[in-house]
Amino acid sequence: MFKQASLWSRLAIIIGSAFFACGVLLAQDKDFSKVEIKVTKVAGNIYMLEGEGGNIAASVGEDGIVIVDDQFAPLAEKIQAALKNLKITDKPVRFVINTHFHGDHAGGNEPFAKGGSTVIAQDNVRKRLETAGSSGNGSSMKFDYKAAPKVALPVITFDHDVTVHLNGEDIRALHFPAGHTDGDAIIFFPKNNVVHMGDDFVRYGFPFIDVTSGGSVQGMIAAMEQVSTQLPPDVKVIPGHGALSNLDDVRAFTKMLKETSAVVQKAIDEHKTMEQMKQEKILAPWAKWSGEFLDADKFIETLYNSLTGSKGEFMKHN
Ligand SMILES: [Zn+2]
Repeated sequence: MFKQASLWSRLAIIIGSAFFACGVLLAQDKDFSKVEIKVTKVAGNIYMLEGEGGNIAASVGEDGIVIVDDQFAPLAEKIQAALKNLKITDKPVRFVINTHFHGDHAGGNEPFAKGGSTVIAQDNVRKRLETAGSSGNGSSMKFDYKAAPKVALPVITFDHDVTVHLNGEDIRALHFPAGHTDGDAIIFFPKNNVVHMGDDFVRYGFPFIDVTSGGSVQGMIAAMEQVSTQLPPDVKVIPGHGALSNLDDVRAFTKMLKETSAVVQKAIDEHKTMEQMKQEKILAPWAKWSGEFLDADKFIETLYNSLTGSKGEFMKHN
């Protein structure tokens, strides 16, 4: 989703069909016919699929297919075709695990569910998909989304964790509270030594944290620290967005989150306003993380609202 022109201008458009997406557009406004699905073998029988929206992980084997995230609804057929093209199995996508509710990760739930897949997600993913609401960083970033149709809702939900036993692997989804959203799951493929981080770890620069939907930088840091201390050093890391990564990339990202949070916390302690922090360019030393999606000012807003517990005055619910 970060390939083309102005991501920000596209972000401003609200997804109409069912979901908000954190990097997004009205599904029917976008010409998905041009999108190609790129498939990369990560390890063993685990593949990474890139198209438009969040990265997909796929376990493809004799028992069938499990995918983590499903991008946008109009891409479902292409995703199915790409998986079939691997010529490993003719069996269908039996399970879809959502890393969180945003439309660029869960937008394909409807067609996959209609095609017979069972959608699994953390409790809060279903709750947020069920009703209309807003996502945002509590200040200048705000995106409204509509309620998802019933068929797109996860039919199996979990509070803390769930394990799918398929293709000789115990695929485990573990909830990390209050990170990118309040319903994030990180998905582990222990036999193949692969992890899908959802949007708790992304490669587009300063991360979007959906403070309005219960996300926080503190939770994101906690998730990344827990994961990076527990996983083997050579684990292959699929980020929510961006290229296949390793633990060094995760550590650099975590370091940035901790350092920038500390700087903003210090400014809060000194009773500085958000505007003063922007004027003083307090995140200038981390300029290389400034991206098309979030520049330093938007990340100051995110950190300020996260650290002060402000979810934004425009909030509709929570
Ligand atoms: Zn997201």
